[in-house]
Amino acid sequence: MLPMQITPIAYINSPYKQKFAIPRQPNLVREARGEIIFTKDFADPNCLRGIEQFSHLWLIFVFHETADKGWSPTVQPPRLGGRESIGVFATRSTFRPNPIGLSVVENLGWEQKGSSLILKVGGLDLLDGTPLIDIKPYVPYADLIANAKAGFAELAPGSDYELIFSNKAEQDLGELGTQYPDLKAFITSVLKQDPRPAWRKKDNDEKRYGMSLYDLNIKWRIEQKSILVLSICKESS
Ligand code: SAM
Repeated sequence: MLPMQITPIAYINSPYKQKFAIPRQPNLVREARGEIIFTKDFADPNCLRGIEQFSHLWLIFVFHETADKGWSPTVQPPRLGGRESIGVFATRSTFRPNPIGLSVVENLGWEQKGSSLILKVGGLDLLDGTPLIDIKPYVPYADLIANAKAGFAELAPGSDYELIFSNKAEQDLGELGTQYPDLKAFITSVLKQDPRPAWRKKDNDEKRYGMSLYDLNIKWRIEQKSILVLSICKESS
C-alpha cells in the first residue's frame, strides 16, 4: 500500500514546552489548558459550527517530537516499572508504526482573533507545537463504556506525595501567579503525577528536578514523603 499524505489542520499552543512532566494521558491535569490554532486553510468558523454542543472532543494528532525515533513490536510501559514487555498495540506508547495520538479534552469554546481561528481546550497531554490532523466530538453513548476493562492500566496513575511549596516558591507564586491561570493548582496537579522516569521513582532521591510550564522553570525535589517545590522563575531569569 502506498504511503498516505495527511495535512495538519491545526497546531497546539500548550503550556507543556518539553516532554518531561507532561501527564501520561489527558484529563489527569485538568488545569492544563491550551489553544488549537487552525492553519490558514482550515481557519473557517463554518468548520466549528455546532461544536459548542459537545463538552469534550477527541483530538487526533501526530507525535511529532518522537516521530523519527522508530518503533518496536513491544514496549515497556512506565506503569509496569519499565520492566515488562507489552505489544505496542496493547499500549498508548508514542513510539508506533504510525506516530498518531488520540486524546479526549474539554471543549472550552472558540474565538476568532483577526484572521486566526482558535479553539480552547482543557486537560491536555500534548506538547507545544503538536500538529493536529483531526477533531471529533466525544459522544458518550458510543465512547463511554461503563464495564470496560483496562488490565494493567485500570487505575489512573499518580503518587501519594504531599506537595509543599517552599517560602521562596510561595513568594514566586505571589509575584507570578496572577499572570498564569490557576498556577499553583496546575503545578500541584502536574507534580502529583510524579513525572520522574520509572527507574528513578524512589523516596531517597536527592536529585533536583526542573520542569517547564508556559515560560516558567519550576525547580523541585523529593523530600521524605513529599515533593518540595523550590522555586518558580521565568525561563530567561
Ligand atoms: N493520549 C495520547 C494517546 O493515548 O495517544 C497520548 C498518550 S502518550 C503516552 C502521552 C505522552 O506523549 C505525554 O506524556 C508526552 O510525553 C508525549 N507527547 C505529547 N505530545 C507529544 C508530541 N507531540 N510528540 C511526542 N510526544 C508527545
